[in-house]
Amino acid sequence: MRKPSATPAPPPAATPTIHGWCPGALRPMASGDGWIVRVRPHAGRLTRVQAAGIARLAAAHGQGAVELTRRANLQLRGVAPASHPALLAGLRALDLVDADAAAEQRRNIVVTPFWEPGDATLALAAALAQALAAPDAPALPAKFGFAVDCGAAPVLRATPATIRIERDARGLVVRADAMPLLARATPHDAVARAMALAHWFAGGDQAAPPPGFHPAPLACRTAPRPQPGPAPGGWLVATAFGQLQAETLARLAEHGDLRLTPWRMLLVEGARSAPALPGLLTDPADPLLRVVACSGIEGCRQAAGPTRPLARALAGFVPAHGLLHVSGCRKGCAHAEPSVTLVATRAGYDLVRHGKAGSAPDRQALRADELAAHLAHAWDTATTTQDAPPHEATASPPL
Ligand code: SF4
Repeated sequence: MRKPSATPAPPPAATPTIHGWCPGALRPMASGDGWIVRVRPHAGRLTRVQAAGIARLAAAHGQGAVELTRRANLQLRGVAPASHPALLAGLRALDLVDADAAAEQRRNIVVTPFWEPGDATLALAAALAQALAAPDAPALPAKFGFAVDCGAAPVLRATPATIRIERDARGLVVRADAMPLLARATPHDAVARAMALAHWFAGGDQAAPPPGFHPAPLACRTAPRPQPGPAPGGWLVATAFGQLQAETLARLAEHGDLRLTPWRMLLVEGARSAPALPGLLTDPADPLLRVVACSGIEGCRQAAGPTRPLARALAGFVPAHGLLHVSGCRKGCAHAEPSVTLVATRAGYDLVRHGKAGSAPDRQALRADELAAHLAHAWDTATTTQDAPPHEATASPPL
């Protein structure tokens, strides 16, 4: 079985990076509109105080907004290098910064937002974070990640992760994502099993899998996408393109602690109705829920054209079951799954009817004013992650 290769040693903190490194708070990423500083809340949860504090920091040191990411983190854009130390100090005061950049990168954990008290999710997430911060933690590739997905049913199957802790009818399981390996676990040994598997991956040799792991069918990578509305633990609210104004975040925090999700939504803990705040999408039928787009030319040097204004304009042409991805280039940062995709190029927009931003286009160099007509039949044969079958289906290919 082929394992991910070991990651190179991290560069010094506070030096921005572009390639091969996920940005963090200690290791921002340079972008077209300044540094991107990504924050990884513990267990994907922000207390009211932390959320209000991030809102203040975003207003003071960023562009006055936060972005929700596909790995249930959030990020500030437009941070000036000179502001970074003060921003870091503010994040440290909120307990949102790791000990060093390597530990920050290893703590790549996405947690189901639908955990319930007593289902072991929070304890497992905390124990896993502790294990990844330990001196003997393995050096892991940049994109190596964990999913703690042991609520009533797995909901993170479509979210990239290398190792998953899940629950089935018989209890907890630890599974590798891209190879058919699974171990049964208890709340007491699940993290140890996950770390044993991580060490095995990091070893890069062909040794036998760790004790307890045995061949098992691959988990399906698709899962129904949750919609705004009531959810286990609270109320889900969405944002267009995952963007949230700092003021809205601060006011949202008045309604409860917040759980981040990989669907560019926030779960307001304990809420019984949708908070009525500007910029929140609370109607599951809102067309803006059917479009995703990266920052495009306004925020990324690699973009060949605008993305979000175009996606807004085209949202009404996307059928209820569909998803339109508008990408500033073939990298496709905003959406990793196949969908109807428009890719900006220097010559216009390429259309991929069912694929990723890097897939071979079906039409090329389309003008913005002719895209709506070309989209009219784009979903006739395409399938998307939104209408994919529920999880627990058959084997699926690796990412
Ligand atoms: S997809 Fe391309 S243009 Fe968009 S954010 Fe990523 S690198 Fe930039």
